[in-house]
Amino acid sequence: MSKLENIIHVDFTQEKREGPAIKIKPSEPKSCSHSNIWVDQDSRKVICEDCKEELDPIRVLHNIAQDEMFLYQCQTDVEALYAEIIKLKKEEKKLKNKIKNAKSRLKDDR
Ligand SMILES: [Zn+2]
Repeated sequence: MSKLENIIHVDFTQEKREGPAIKIKPSEPKSCSHSNIWVDQDSRKVICEDCKEELDPIRVLHNIAQDEMFLYQCQTDVEALYAEIIKLKKEEKKLKNKIKNAKSRLKDDR
């Protein structure tokens, strides 16, 4: 076996491509957040009131569902934090009573 058998032949004479065959159009930055939506039940269309763009109803529903999930999670977190506050206030009250009792025992011992 000669050393040349392991060498891969690369043809550099082929023309270089201008880029990939399929290109993705860069998305233009959106100036409207489509936060004011208008639903037309008759035409079954969802339109942004601000920019008048017709929106994909499924995408709008998906965004609303995501917002609702986020709000639900926030509400759950707030409830858990309130429960923790109530627990800590009870603990604070217990500790203040312990301090008060300890101080009065110290006075009595003197
Ligand atoms: Zn819009």
